[in-house]
Amino acid sequence: MLNAGLAVALGTASLATAQPGHNLTIVASRVLKFSGGDVQVDFAAGPLDLSQDAVMAHVQAAASAIVAYYGRLPVARARVLIVPVPDQTGIVQGTTWGDMAGYPGMSRFRLGQHATQDDLNDDWMMTHELDHMAFPSLPDDQHWMEEGLATYVEPIARVESGELKPGQIWHDMVRDMHKGEPAEGDQGLDHTHSWGRTYWGGAMFCLVADVEIRRQTGNKKGLQDALRAIVAAGGTIDHEWPLDQALAIGDKATGTHVLTDQYAKWKDAPVTVDLEKLWVDLGIRWNGGAVEFVDDAPLAKVRVAIARQAR
Ligand SMILES: [Zn+2]
Repeated sequence: MLNAGLAVALGTASLATAQPGHNLTIVASRVLKFSGGDVQVDFAAGPLDLSQDAVMAHVQAAASAIVAYYGRLPVARARVLIVPVPDQTGIVQGTTWGDMAGYPGMSRFRLGQHATQDDLNDDWMMTHELDHMAFPSLPDDQHWMEEGLATYVEPIARVESGELKPGQIWHDMVRDMHKGEPAEGDQGLDHTHSWGRTYWGGAMFCLVADVEIRRQTGNKKGLQDALRAIVAAGGTIDHEWPLDQALAIGDKATGTHVLTDQYAKWKDAPVTVDLEKLWVDLGIRWNGGAVEFVDDAPLAKVRVAIARQAR
């Protein structure tokens, strides 16, 4: 779990000595139903400018994005605990656990007393945290995969649910993905636990794998197919797996060896990605702070397939 000092504060934790929030008074509890499972939203006592309805709508949107991407809610019962933080503004922190007091997945959000509707409209953290439920808990050395996956999938899922436009998320990927490149002294993703390598190095692993799966399968399969298969095989946050096991299931679903082969190359050695070339191949052109799409680029169809706007 990361905290103050970074622009974002979020993370996963699979171990906890006590159930988070066990000492809080729950003043309201409401349930959202989705294909695959329910999300129980519990509000802890405390002052909040936002209405419960506004918070519920935000959880609904985030969970809908996850359902759009995975085809179902990954876990049968998820709990979202909303904890008001007096005198604070904005969304303060999100953390997600597996197998917590009868819930396969639990996310806790510390929400500032003075958080606004605009804060909710700008928030990606809720979707990021719920995405953590859709992958098994990994050993510490593979924490980059948990965070990278959530970083990569969150915006794509929100495109699929209709919340974001593809142009917005490709803009952000072009702006941020380079933060995942190895720095001097890097020893590969399994041994370099910096913030950049954990979040963006992991996201870059996912992007490169997604493109390669689509290239090898004539754009018929993608990382999404691999991730759905991992969930279908029980690979959710309430289960502890080695990463190899999840990647093998993902590869089987796409009929490739992309994930296993790429992990073998990236885990113990720094792999620099030629992102400038990748953006050109995908048909993404940076123009004065905005992105333009080039539809006759060699991988333009791959770009379209990765982030497909809901119909
Ligand atoms: Zn996270």
